[in-house]
Amino acid sequence: MEGSEADMETIETDIESEEDIESIEEDVMETEKETEQEEQQAEKPPDELERGNIVLPGDLIGTSEEFVPKKGTFEQKGSIFAAATGYVKINAKERSISVEPVTNTPPQLAVGDIVIGQVTDVKESVALIEIAGIKGRGEREIVNAEDAAIHVSNVKDAYVKDLSYEFAPFDIVKAKVLDLRNMRLTTVNKELGVMKAYCGNCRTVLKKENDKLKCPNCKRTETRKVSVNYGTGII
Ligand code: ZN
Repeated sequence: MEGSEADMETIETDIESEEDIESIEEDVMETEKETEQEEQQAEKPPDELERGNIVLPGDLIGTSEEFVPKKGTFEQKGSIFAAATGYVKINAKERSISVEPVTNTPPQLAVGDIVIGQVTDVKESVALIEIAGIKGRGEREIVNAEDAAIHVSNVKDAYVKDLSYEFAPFDIVKAKVLDLRNMRLTTVNKELGVMKAYCGNCRTVLKKENDKLKCPNCKRTETRKVSVNYGTGII
């Protein structure tokens, strides 16, 4: 506290006239008003779960005066700690705090979900997909990108001779979750399949022309198991 008087003096000497002081005061008032408006906009129903930062086991997340410790937490001498790696969740109505654990499979992903992902590799019998989003739910729902696979038998309603005619690395695909344990996806359905593909030669985005994909740059054509929504962004 000893330094504060000296600090005040420095501030005072920096301000040269009363006009300066007035304009500074106005600025401060305006900033306060803006903050108030932002806070009002951010207000949510009191019983809604707030999803917070990711924490590690042993991280201090609150005190027992503030919150009732729930799932994924432990209390020690009035302090509440995370017992798992995950997201802090605060229920304002119950004044409770919990940690929703992060697991290897995205917890919200369910069989039948439609996902969007990118092809990372095409092997003889499977195409590997990195899942980037789930239809109908925000991208933030996905805790960590999980590798999934489309088996050659789940590509389309017809015999697949060579998987490299159906998918290529970097393709964006829309697929349905078949099995969570092995993270198997299917593209058997006209809405499912490749949504966006890049020319294997020049990396330009391929355009759909009739049933083929054509590179507008080098005029090559390529084949894919395309979705009817190819190029539309409709998920
Ligand atoms: Zn090209």
